[in-house]
Amino acid sequence: MNEATRFIHTLGADPLTGAISVPIYQTSTFVQEAPGINRGFDYSRSNNPTRRQLEKLLAELENGCAGFAFSSGLAAIDSVLKTLSSGDEILAVEDIYGGSFRMFEHVYRKFGIRIRYVDTQEPANVFDHINAKTKLVWLETPTNPTLKITDIESISLIAKEYGALVVVDNTFLSPYLQKPLDLGADIVVHSATKYLAGHSDVIAGAVIVKDEELAEKIKFHQNASGAVLGPFDSWLTIRGIQTLPLRITKQCENAKKVAEFLHGHPLVKNVYYPGLEGHKNHKVAKRQQRDFGGVVSFDFKEDLHEHGRRFVCSTKYFQLAESLGGLKSLICHPTDMTHKSTPVEIKRKVGVTDSLIRLSLGIEDADDLILDLKQAFEVVEQHKKSVLASR
Ligand SMILES: *Cc1c(COP(=O)(O)O)cnc(C)c1O
Repeated sequence: MNEATRFIHTLGADPLTGAISVPIYQTSTFVQEAPGINRGFDYSRSNNPTRRQLEKLLAELENGCAGFAFSSGLAAIDSVLKTLSSGDEILAVEDIYGGSFRMFEHVYRKFGIRIRYVDTQEPANVFDHINAKTKLVWLETPTNPTLKITDIESISLIAKEYGALVVVDNTFLSPYLQKPLDLGADIVVHSATKYLAGHSDVIAGAVIVKDEELAEKIKFHQNASGAVLGPFDSWLTIRGIQTLPLRITKQCENAKKVAEFLHGHPLVKNVYYPGLEGHKNHKVAKRQQRDFGGVVSFDFKEDLHEHGRRFVCSTKYFQLAESLGGLKSLICHPTDMTHKSTPVEIKRKVGVTDSLIRLSLGIEDADDLILDLKQAFEVVEQHKKSVLASR
């Protein structure tokens, strides 16, 4: 079965009724014949038939042994951190998602988990910092918002030498574009809020693991902490996943066209898109991904906060909002939005300049999107001229 077909046909019809759409089991509990005698379900925090179908689909698509659905991406990430003990260390990608950083630093550090951050674009940096206490190597590839790429396979080899597990936050690409477990990683996490569900209408998260032992641990914490995905949100996520190959193919196409347009624009300095041949890790991206993804970032030659702000307020189809991966194109000014609480030194280090803009491409017509960007550049240009004239 080819990949796009797997997205559609992994889940068969409902065995009870033949329903072609997975039924929504909106129930908290299940009637038992006698104490402890049930049909595999006793309470929906522990197990729910709709959620179980989603979990089966997630496991299949990531080529894992089991999947788990959570009430958000951060709840999913939290369940992985709960497998650690005081004294353990995490070696993490330096431009990690802000919410993961907040959890690492402000929740887990006080329980005695040590976290260090390195630039994982160079596997040698991981090699230099890993040690016997390192239990997790935490990767995101590409990173947010400057789309740095990490070689999952090389880093997995290093981690294995030290008995550390490799976790990949695969939110930015989805299992259609990248399968970290096939590249040697042990655990995949997702904010299913983004590409998996794909319609900007649900908050959801997922963990997929490569073996039974890890499955038991995550299952335990999912039930023990209880941040499960509800039946209706599980159904929305299943519905979204089935069209993922179609959506993301179009999003990648749009991203490529927009990146090429931006690349030649006279006001633009850097364009961050792993699909451009000039991108630092283009070769690694090409090797480990099916395509280059639907997110593009860029900044201005004249790095003024005002330019970024004016630009994001001037687009018509690119809606100004946090998040990514939905049908509608989104635009964001990271320095004031996703990275507002990031210290200035770190922003500088990872490339979040004052004028940096992140685009999440939707499935609109690429020509319309490019026209939209053109007119926003004109607004910035007009403003520059009026400032000069008033001097
Ligand atoms: C959004 C996001 C998260 C957090 O997911 P939520 O569903 O918002 O809790 C984690 N990692 C990445 C890369 C994200 O973009």
